[in-house]
Amino acid sequence: MEKLSYERPAIRKMNAGLMNKFGARIENEPVTQIDGVPVSSLIRDFGSPLFVISEKQIRSNIQNAIRIFRTRYPLVQFAWSYKTNYLDAVCRIFHQEGSWAEVVSGFEYDKALANNVPGNRIIFNGPDKSGEDLLKAAKNNSLIHIDHLDELLMLIDIAGVHGLKPRVAIRVNMDTGIFPKWDRFGFNLENGQAWSAITRIMNDKNLQLSGLHCHIGTFVLSPSAYSAAALKLSELARDIKNKYGKAIEYLDLGGGFPSNNRLKGVYMPGSDTVPSLDQYADAITSALLGFGYRQDELPLLILETGRALIDDAGYLLGTVLTNKRLSDGRRATILDFGVNILFTSLWYDHKISPAQDSVQMTEDMVLYGPLCMNIDVIREGINMPVLEKGNHVVVHKVGAYNMTQWMQFITFRPNVVLVDSNMRTHIIRKSETIETVTMNESVPEQLKGKSS
Ligand SMILES: *Cc1c(COP(=O)(O)O)cnc(C)c1O
Repeated sequence: MEKLSYERPAIRKMNAGLMNKFGARIENEPVTQIDGVPVSSLIRDFGSPLFVISEKQIRSNIQNAIRIFRTRYPLVQFAWSYKTNYLDAVCRIFHQEGSWAEVVSGFEYDKALANNVPGNRIIFNGPDKSGEDLLKAAKNNSLIHIDHLDELLMLIDIAGVHGLKPRVAIRVNMDTGIFPKWDRFGFNLENGQAWSAITRIMNDKNLQLSGLHCHIGTFVLSPSAYSAAALKLSELARDIKNKYGKAIEYLDLGGGFPSNNRLKGVYMPGSDTVPSLDQYADAITSALLGFGYRQDELPLLILETGRALIDDAGYLLGTVLTNKRLSDGRRATILDFGVNILFTSLWYDHKISPAQDSVQMTEDMVLYGPLCMNIDVIREGINMPVLEKGNHVVVHKVGAYNMTQWMQFITFRPNVVLVDSNMRTHIIRKSETIETVTMNESVPEQLKGKSS
């Protein structure tokens, strides 16, 4: 008989339904369905891992945001930030709810057009607009938000050559009291760059200065930064009015409101630490209403909020591949999804729930993905019920940025399914296959044929 190999004994702390200082561990309640559709049938029908998006949640988020701002300020327009999640079905839900499109590349611009957004409801941001992009946007009467001087000169040239009168804004960066200061996009306010760009625009016979834009950061935790931004843009608009007699039609305050995910290193869950949307709306609208605009010159307030409107509408379902003991005795649970498709696990401690009734016993564990890479960690330390091979889990609040920044690596990107408001399921992006991944490859003639 073969001798059994020695295994180092380890003392493990087990918790059985204990209270912690925040009360019972509701974090560990199983989540067995999404909008009424069982997790087990979603995985049976569409595979694992699987992204699931709730149409109901998206609609409720955007309707709620519109209500919060419109009850405080008369002229509000949301524009959906394509790069946050540009699956067509997702964008079209936002457009049905009245959102314009906010795009940052020629590719996103074309996606918005293909989603039937009229050109004059597309806001074109970003530092990388080609001459062709600018010409197309100018012809379509889109709102072109100029990022830098070379772009401004290029647009002046294009408008002159083609006899177009593009509607433009400049992106302004400024000190709003937050760190890090995003001063690499747009024109700086304090050092005079913004004003000199405005002067050039006003001295050009073609460009129509329609608005002023800023996007001060992302996951910005201080509402007061937004009142500072609204105030500074209003002052700039007033200076333009005084000098040129031209009223600015809109102020675009960008996005950047946090979702209620928990950032790594923060102890309390996001719902306890993140200010509410009402607080951001209060900050922005009271700055605008208190500024002293004439009633008929109140600017339209545009908001490009991304993650705060989609994060909690997205779920990632997955399956346990196996469990191991690490050399220090900790339990390691290996899941079938990794950081390649859950990019945001680098920033957030995502809430992860078991998807079936499980043993009461919880344990501290590490959750790994399946990639052959040491960095593939989904949660470094989580206390949750012990999971067995084949068990399912639900990762919460993954709707923002994952489905645009995911990587194809080692394996395929999975299906994305929309659960609609009537509990019906629709594949809105098919999982990749070996064909989709190798479609753009080609093999030189001398490498074809048998390998020896
Ligand atoms: C990314 C981006 C947004 C959306 O940002 P969130 O932080 O997701 O709200 C809005 N506007 C611009 C210009 C952006 O680049």
